[in-house]
Amino acid sequence: MSTTTLRPGRWSNWSGSVRGKPREIAMPASIDELARQVGEFGRSGRRVRVVGAGHSFTPLAQTDDVLMSLDNMQGVISADEARGTVTVFGGTRLYNLGPALHERGVAQENLGDINQQSIAGAISTSTHGTGVGFGSIATQVAGITLVTASGEVVTCSAEENPEIFNAARVSLGMLGVIAAVTLRVVPAKKVNLKTRRESLTSILAHLEEYKRNNTHFEFFWFPYTDGGQAKFVNESDAPVKQGGAWANFNKIVLENGALALLSGTTRLMPFLAPAICKISVAGITPIDEVNYSHLIYTTPRAVRFQEMEYSIPAEHFATVMQEIRDTINRERYKVNFPVECRFVKGDDIWLSTAYGRDSAYIAVHMYRGMPYKDYFAGIEEIFTRYDGRPHWGKIHTRDAAYLAAHYPHWDDFRRVRAQLDPQGVFLNDYLRQLFAVPASMPVSAK
Ligand SMILES: Cc1cc2nc3c(=O)[nH]c(=O)nc-3n(C[C@H](O)[C@H](O)[C@H](O)COP(=O)(O)OP(=O)(O)OC[C@H]3O[C@@H](n4cnc5c(N)ncnc54)[C@H](O)[C@@H]3O)c2cc1C
Repeated sequence: MSTTTLRPGRWSNWSGSVRGKPREIAMPASIDELARQVGEFGRSGRRVRVVGAGHSFTPLAQTDDVLMSLDNMQGVISADEARGTVTVFGGTRLYNLGPALHERGVAQENLGDINQQSIAGAISTSTHGTGVGFGSIATQVAGITLVTASGEVVTCSAEENPEIFNAARVSLGMLGVIAAVTLRVVPAKKVNLKTRRESLTSILAHLEEYKRNNTHFEFFWFPYTDGGQAKFVNESDAPVKQGGAWANFNKIVLENGALALLSGTTRLMPFLAPAICKISVAGITPIDEVNYSHLIYTTPRAVRFQEMEYSIPAEHFATVMQEIRDTINRERYKVNFPVECRFVKGDDIWLSTAYGRDSAYIAVHMYRGMPYKDYFAGIEEIFTRYDGRPHWGKIHTRDAAYLAAHYPHWDDFRRVRAQLDPQGVFLNDYLRQLFAVPASMPVSAK
C-alpha cells in the first residue's frame, strides 16, 4: 500500500526547501525486488537516493537520477518475543508502526515529535525525542538488513558485521538501502502528558530536577518573553483520559490553526514578532492526558516551517539558552516560533548527534516563506562555540572539516562507506561535498 505519490521530474521535501528532478522513481514491493533493482542500477552506473517521508530539511534525498521509495514496503515482518524485538520493513511509516506494535502489546520506548517519518528515514538522520534515560530512535535498533550497491543483502547487528552496524544505524542513505530494521521494543505502556505555561527563568532554575524526575521533559520558549510551555510525560496506570475537547482544540487549533494565523500575520508584518510571541505565551493552557505512548509522544504539525537544530553537551544548556536569548534581543530577529529544547542520553553510534555525550537539543524554527538565514546563522554561531553537532536532517552550514573534528568515528564511517559503495551509487552532490568525497576520484579512495 503506497502512502506517497512520487513522479519523475518533480520532487520536493516537506518544507519546500529542497527540490529535485528525479529521472526515475523506483518503488520496490519486496526485499528481493529491491535487491534486484539496486543491483541493476549499480551495474549500469546509475545514482540512487532513497527517500522516506521527505521530512528532512537538507538535500539528503535530492537526485536527478533514481529516487527510490520503500512506501510499498510497510509493516511487521516478524517478532521475537523472547528477545523483545520486532522486525519491520524499512519503509514503514511511524503512523503505521505505532498501531502495528500496539496490536502485539508492545511499543517503541520513545519517539520524536511527529509520526510521519519512515522508520529507516528516522534512524538514518539520528532523529530523537526527549528523555535523559533514552537515546535517539537509532538506539532502539538491534539489527539492520541492508541492500548494498552491488545488490547484495547484508545483515548486521552488534554480533554480526559490527562495523557495518555501527555505521549503518545513522547513515543518511549512504551505505545502501535499509530494507528492514529489527527494533528493541518495550511492553505497551500508558503515559500521562502534562503541559503548563512556565517561565524560562523557572525552568532553568529547576532544570536538573525536571530532567531527573520525569521520564520525558521538554519545553518551548518564546523569544522576546520569559514564557514558554513545559511538557512532562511519565508512565501511568490511570484510565485513558483524552484531555477532552479543550486538549484537541489546543493541539489542532491553537498549536496549528492559531500558529498558522499568527505566523501569517508575522510574515505580513514582521515588526509584530515580539508582540505575537507574547500573545502566544498568553494562549498556553494546561493539558492533562493519559493514553498509550505512541498516541501521546507525537502531535500533528500542520504549519510548515524551516528548522535548524543542534545537539550540544548537556552541561552547556543553560549558558547556551542565555546566549540565544541575548542574541535574539540584540539582533531583533523577526521570529514568532518558539525555541524547542530536549534532552537525550549519549550513545555509541558513529554518526549519532549524541555520540559519546549526554546531549541537549535546541531547535529554532522560521515560518515558511519568511527569511531565516540571518536568524539561523546568529544562533548557529553560538552552537558551534559549544561543540554543537547539527541534526543531519535540519538546516546547517557545517562542512567536512568541522564534522570530522566533532565525530571521533568520522573516518571509520567514510571507510565503511567506501568499502560498501566504491562507485558512489548512493551519493549525491550534497553528500559528496559534506563528506569530502572528490567527484573525479574513485569513491573508494582514502
Ligand atoms: C514537522 C517535522 C517534525 C520533526 N520532528 C523531529 C523530531 O521530533 N526529532 C528529530 O530528531 N527530528 C525531527 N524531524 C526531522 C526528521 O525526523 C528527520 O529529518 C527524518 O530523517 C525524516 O524522516 P523521513 O522518513 O522523512 O526521511 P527522509 O527525510 O526522506 O530521509 C532522511 C534520510 O534517510 C535516508 N533514508 C530514508 N529511507 C531510507 C532507507 N530505506 N534506507 C536507507 N536510507 C534511507 C535518506 O536517504 C536520507 O538520507 C522533524 C521534521 C519535520 C518536518
